[in-house]
Amino acid sequence: MELLYRSTRGAKEPVTASKAILQGLAEDGGLFVPDSIPKLTCSMEQLAGMTYQETAYEVMKLFLTDYTEEELKYCINSAYDKKFDTDVIAPLEKVEDAYYLELFHGATIAFKDMALSILPYLMTTAAKKNQVKNDIVILTATSGDTGKAALAGFADVPGTKIIVFYPKNGVSPIQEKQMVTQKGDNTFVVGIHGNFDDAQSGVKAIFGNKELAKELDQAGYQFSSANSINIGRLVPQIVYYVYAYAKLLESGEIKDGEIINVTVPTGNFGNILAAYYAKLMGLPLGKFICASNENKVLYDFFSTGCYDRNRAFMLTNSPSMDILISSNLERLIYRIAGNDPEKNSRLMEGLAKDGKYEITDEMKQNLQEFYGNYATEEETAGAIRRLYEETGYVMDTHTAVAEAVYEKYRQETKDETKTVIASTASPFKFTRSVMNSIDGKYDALSDFELVDQLSRIAGVRVPKAIEEIRTAPVLHDRVIAAEEMPQAVKEILGV
Ligand SMILES: *Cc1c(COP(=O)(O)O)cnc(C)c1O
Repeated sequence: MELLYRSTRGAKEPVTASKAILQGLAEDGGLFVPDSIPKLTCSMEQLAGMTYQETAYEVMKLFLTDYTEEELKYCINSAYDKKFDTDVIAPLEKVEDAYYLELFHGATIAFKDMALSILPYLMTTAAKKNQVKNDIVILTATSGDTGKAALAGFADVPGTKIIVFYPKNGVSPIQEKQMVTQKGDNTFVVGIHGNFDDAQSGVKAIFGNKELAKELDQAGYQFSSANSINIGRLVPQIVYYVYAYAKLLESGEIKDGEIINVTVPTGNFGNILAAYYAKLMGLPLGKFICASNENKVLYDFFSTGCYDRNRAFMLTNSPSMDILISSNLERLIYRIAGNDPEKNSRLMEGLAKDGKYEITDEMKQNLQEFYGNYATEEETAGAIRRLYEETGYVMDTHTAVAEAVYEKYRQETKDETKTVIASTASPFKFTRSVMNSIDGKYDALSDFELVDQLSRIAGVRVPKAIEEIRTAPVLHDRVIAAEEMPQAVKEILGV
């Protein structure tokens, strides 16, 4: 049975999975959602014995029904290979009473690798299946991690070009260095004067620009998106929640059917939405603890039912979560609106026009599995220091936001349910913030001295992704105003 995807704003006929992946965003500006969420067809016991790659196949085949078994297995095996520094791909670390699902063992040491190492394969396979003749131009706005992971995934992939826009002053020094040293003739990195939301809105506007699309088509190009609005990002992210549950079962930490909670440090709402989809597939998950930093628009939303982006944008030490427009939330809104594209469109219009919308009480009833809270910068630093001092485990700033919110949740609710914390980045990616949290004395050290010091105190080898950029030359130095983004795209593509 074929699973089709339709827009959350509903104007058009549904499309196949491969078309949805190629397009990225629906033509009406909505996000593609599957017509229904498929149920897992394997028992948990079966899943418990599977490798990451096997689990990925069992989950993804249910969503990407127009890919053949051979195509999908090729994509999975090409993605989850030696680029990861561990054969298990996503290890679980039990620290105190929580399970840290380490999603940062890929090429760029952030959880974006989990989906972006497979997206290029899904996309080029989709292009072949759909007889696409144009080169595909990946346009990406990044708050720091997506950009590098997408660059690494698409670098030198035939038939593709990738252009990444990042907020010039809104990413960590290591994140920036990782991006501007990217090799590959088909890669382009552009800093913008503005924040992540400016970059994301700029990219969305380019996607919606029909004239530009026509010009590009004539020149042999078409756009697609590697942002987490692409269903080809969301589906691979469901895999690791199923995998984590299965591994907890395999190791005897939980019983079959036992309900567990997940805590996710959240920005664009993609990672936590994948966990929610896993539950809808039948995975025994309880609460989704949505952790925000001081950009706490989601916390306010879950507490009041009002989504309001009209507020100051805060630059924090967890920059990948510095977001006021959580794009993937639209998929949840659509669902709690009874899969009603009109209702959803009205709310999204409100967001575009007034920067806010309010959901009905009835819709709010459908959000009870979600708990939102946030951690201040101080609380985040405190969480890193405390966990390090008490256990020796060093987490990054994003994971620390999740840990701090997890503690708040438990104090508030007394809920003792076992919990998986999505650990979204290696501490080496945010070394300065992490080391400053542990002890202010480290601030005198240079970025790479800090890396070595972190390696020493954590007892963890410096990841290859960091070693590579120590001496790598800067290859991209373009910085522009946000309004110049369409022009920059044209220049890069020579149209
Ligand atoms: C992208 C990112 C997040 C936020 O994930 P979303 O899917 O956008 O909610 C959290 N932490 C890190 C390290 C990230 O790179």
